[in-house]
Amino acid sequence: MKRLMLNTLVIILLSFPVYGGTGEYTKKLQAALPDFQMPDAWVTNHSPFRIVGNLYGVGGQDLSVYLITSEEGHVLLNTGAEGSMQHISANINSLGYDIKDVKILLSMQSHFDHTADLAIIRELTGAKMYATKKDAPILEDGGFSDPHFGGIETFRPVTVDKIIGNGELIELGNTKLTVHYHPGHTEGSSSYSMEVKENGKLYKVLIANMGTINPGKQMIVDPTYPGVSQDFAYTYKNQKMMDVDIWVAAHKSQYGFYEKYQAEQGYSPETFVDPDGYIDAIEELEIKYIKQLNAELKQKNDI
Ligand SMILES: [Zn+2]
Repeated sequence: MKRLMLNTLVIILLSFPVYGGTGEYTKKLQAALPDFQMPDAWVTNHSPFRIVGNLYGVGGQDLSVYLITSEEGHVLLNTGAEGSMQHISANINSLGYDIKDVKILLSMQSHFDHTADLAIIRELTGAKMYATKKDAPILEDGGFSDPHFGGIETFRPVTVDKIIGNGELIELGNTKLTVHYHPGHTEGSSSYSMEVKENGKLYKVLIANMGTINPGKQMIVDPTYPGVSQDFAYTYKNQKMMDVDIWVAAHKSQYGFYEKYQAEQGYSPETFVDPDGYIDAIEELEIKYIKQLNAELKQKNDI
């Protein structure tokens, strides 16, 4: 009897993706990359918060997940690492909404720390997964064809229902999101912009996929994918030309969330207004990119 109960418990535990490094894909990752350690901040929840208007943060301590609500259902952008769905769902509930009302799923970049639970949420809600043409095949094979981290499935493959193009408008109820191709970090990386009116003021909002360069990425010498260097250059240039009042990003650390937000202060649409910090953050990444280009050029000349 005891044995039976234990077996039942094991089955119950195994049937839920457990946050904190024991899920099936997290184990695969650890087997393939023994040096990889899932950062605590990637598997710890953060209480949900309102950014501006109908845009909310419902992700973890570092990995950003965004909910954009409308009277006709919601858009959910990104998940966290494997098992994050339970926290995302609880966060959405505590805002007074329901994950089951999510109609559109989006992704900023096809890396496992932002995509792991898209497939489970798509199944649970019946939401349609939209993706850019370059990220779609990677989402559909669970990261296997990723030119940098590929060769193994790093997250549960998710079916893409619709390809979204650069400049395309995604509309759901009163929500209007514009798609911006910002390739480099992944070949299909994308940002999303929206305008929000609060207290008679119009805010231009960008959910930005920043051009960060993962360790081991190659621009010139044996490039990670053909055109990767031009993609990064395009993204920095394009992002700097955008008129942005409020910006957030795929990682809270990228947009200085903890310097900007104090839960006890309550909601103000001004909290995340930061046009200068936006440009500074892009320029900081661009400097790193130029340094890497120089290093690779030198390496090429030395060969
Ligand atoms: Zn990434």
